[in-house]
Amino acid sequence: MAILLGCIADDFTGGTDLAGMLVKAGMRTVQMIGVPKESPGDDIDAVVIALKSRTSPAEEAVAESLAALRWLQQTGCRQFYFKYCSTFDSTSKGNIGPVAEALMKELGCSFTIACPAFPVNGRTIYKGYLFVGDLLLSDSGMRHHPLTPMGDSSLVRVLQSQVQGRVGLAEHATVLKGEEAIRSRFRALEAAGCNFAVVDALSNDDLLAIGAACAGMQLVTAGSGIALGLPQNFRRAGLLADDRVADALPPTGGLRAVISGSCSIATQGQVAAMRAVHPSFHVDPFELARGVEVVAAALEWAASRIKDEPVLFYATASPEAVKTVQMQLGSEKAGKLIEAALAAIAKGLIEMGVGQLIVAGGETSGAVVQALGVSGLRIGVEIDPGVPWTTAITKDSVGRPLALALKSGNFGSPDFFLKAWSKLI
Ligand code: ADP
Repeated sequence: MAILLGCIADDFTGGTDLAGMLVKAGMRTVQMIGVPKESPGDDIDAVVIALKSRTSPAEEAVAESLAALRWLQQTGCRQFYFKYCSTFDSTSKGNIGPVAEALMKELGCSFTIACPAFPVNGRTIYKGYLFVGDLLLSDSGMRHHPLTPMGDSSLVRVLQSQVQGRVGLAEHATVLKGEEAIRSRFRALEAAGCNFAVVDALSNDDLLAIGAACAGMQLVTAGSGIALGLPQNFRRAGLLADDRVADALPPTGGLRAVISGSCSIATQGQVAAMRAVHPSFHVDPFELARGVEVVAAALEWAASRIKDEPVLFYATASPEAVKTVQMQLGSEKAGKLIEAALAAIAKGLIEMGVGQLIVAGGETSGAVVQALGVSGLRIGVEIDPGVPWTTAITKDSVGRPLALALKSGNFGSPDFFLKAWSKLI
């Protein structure tokens, strides 16, 4: 069966967030890293293409998003979804508006919604104004964001300044009346010459009603919240089985390892918990800087231990230790040096027979994924909120499947590295 929903996310973690939401709502989902060259595999209901376009120049963001759209169109997707941040992160020159309009033009559609609301995380929209918790967006920390400062909370105004078309509002009073009322508001706005409806949303029920009203809409632009309601539309249309198990992954065997380059507080606790019970190897930034063959030593060390139990490789250190390293080596240089070493260790481990790998740290994960040639991730069961097991799609997807868990620094419970394995079959 063809893929039902094709999504374009403007950054990687945003893509992961959306993919996780779709899996929870019952769609088998793959997240591709950048515009794919290869097939995402069979038996998939949704694809999320994660770009890094949030802060690139608008023309670049448009070009990349169009390339992603064209690839998704080839897979036969029935609906398209442009995913941005729940705080509508964009610069004064774009990119949300220009990308949305370019996608609409390519798809030949003249009306869509704009709804970054994500109430469980405190992002709500009322009368078109975006709130972060109890504060207006423009009073929240987003006012001082280094790349995308948001000084205006009116989404109608912000979006209007980014687009050529007209922006209207579907107010909460309408949303409360449910799917039919929302749909007729969309029709009225379109008839009045609007191309976008900013939609108020204060709760998950609102998101579900808006999602239902978006059935058949060619393009949806939103945060990840609206994704809650879309799978049900496909179910109602008989395109998605009710009993679909969306988070099942193919079995992966092989040896087990953890690589940690994150120094976040949660990761420090997780590293300590693993060090207490399993063999662990410290990747020392000063040794790397002196040119010691740390990667070779790490792999040799692993060879005699990894057959019996999971092993840990970590650069994770306390804030004081990190400061000392950064003062002597420079933060960027130290970061890159460590990332490169951890990525090389990951590569060596896969060659050694590792089939289940946890990586801690956002940047560290990026380096590992690149070194392993991973082009996409099939999203599986969640280990802790926001961190699923995945199976890697690699450019030459042959041989053993690789289970990968990519953990952002501050995610996961203290026993994350210990309990994660039992979630795999
Ligand atoms: P997080 O998700 O916790 O932010 P990242 O992997 O994104 O983790 O970032 C951590 C950065 O810190 C990486 O660039 C990593 O190489 C670097 N790093 C790891 N250990 C050390 C250390 N001991 N000293 C200095 N930098 C370190």
